[in-house]
Amino acid sequence: MSEVFFIRAADIGAENKLESLLEHAGVDCLSGVVALKMHMGELNNKTYIKPELVKPIVEVVKKHGGKPFVTDTTTIYKEKRYTAMDYYETAFAHGFLPSFLGCPVLIADGLRDDGVGVSEHVEIAKYIYESDSMLVISHATGHGASSFGGAIKNVAMGCVTKNTKKYMHEVTRPVLNHDLCTGCNKCREVCKHDAIGETYMINFDNCIGCGACIEACESGALSSPPDMSYELQKRLAEVASTVIHGLPYTDLLYLNFLINITPFCDCAEFAPEYLCPDIGVLASKDIVAVDMATIELIKVEKFKEDPAIQVREAQRLGLGERDYELIEL
Ligand code: SF4
Ligand code: SF4
Repeated sequence: MSEVFFIRAADIGAENKLESLLEHAGVDCLSGVVALKMHMGELNNKTYIKPELVKPIVEVVKKHGGKPFVTDTTTIYKEKRYTAMDYYETAFAHGFLPSFLGCPVLIADGLRDDGVGVSEHVEIAKYIYESDSMLVISHATGHGASSFGGAIKNVAMGCVTKNTKKYMHEVTRPVLNHDLCTGCNKCREVCKHDAIGETYMINFDNCIGCGACIEACESGALSSPPDMSYELQKRLAEVASTVIHGLPYTDLLYLNFLINITPFCDCAEFAPEYLCPDIGVLASKDIVAVDMATIELIKVEKFKEDPAIQVREAQRLGLGERDYELIEL
């Protein structure tokens, strides 16, 4: 049974609480150059984990001998984190400034989407691969396609290049029902990837499965594949497993923030509602246990689809145990 340490939301700002949480979870394993892998928020997202919460984590990692840097990778959809230069601007606008955090901020796939191939489908972002250890800092949220996003999704979708992101999103590509199509052209107007032809057929070479056309299609001619959540969660677990087993280091620690728990991830601009009130922060060396505890604290029924498919699959792939002991500090 794996240990998952827990502090309540009201205690996050209390002196030494985050430090105590990290120490109980085993922060000493983070040595050398430590990647602090997180999502710094799409521009105009309001609910990403704030730099004020990351700064004390940086201090704890440094106090325990690590040399941290805050990091994330660029997106496959074309918004304000699509290139490294876009992402630096967004990160700085959101307050992720080295002078404030006390450590560098590096976009892990570099200026040219650089990665290290570790399997047929998986390339790990260069700076994450080249680190010595990693603290995976995840904001627990719902997700439009994968139902839930926590540590497994942060590793799978967040530690890889665009090619690997596209591999996972193959299973979210839209399905077209020609009989319902009115020829309104709205799908072509919103697609930023030149993936819809004049007859509204989807070009799967270009489509990144972003779903923008589905939202724009008022007739229902475009829809998500019926088994999208199941298939995407399976791919998330598969890629997380390939990343974790493909890294040249094994010192990994997981920190899940269960605050501002929105139905959508931090790629979304708006956060109109919350799934539940703030809960707290979890820390563990077990990625399966920390995500299972996160889902059970939020409550399974708050999610649109079964959020634990990725967790069961990650356990099957040998990433950890769903049985956990929750230890409140
Ligand atoms: S999901 Fe739709 S909008 Fe997005 S890239 Fe594919 S065709 Fe274009
Ligand atoms: S948005 Fe829907 S109805 Fe309009 S052209 Fe595209 S597929 Fe057809």
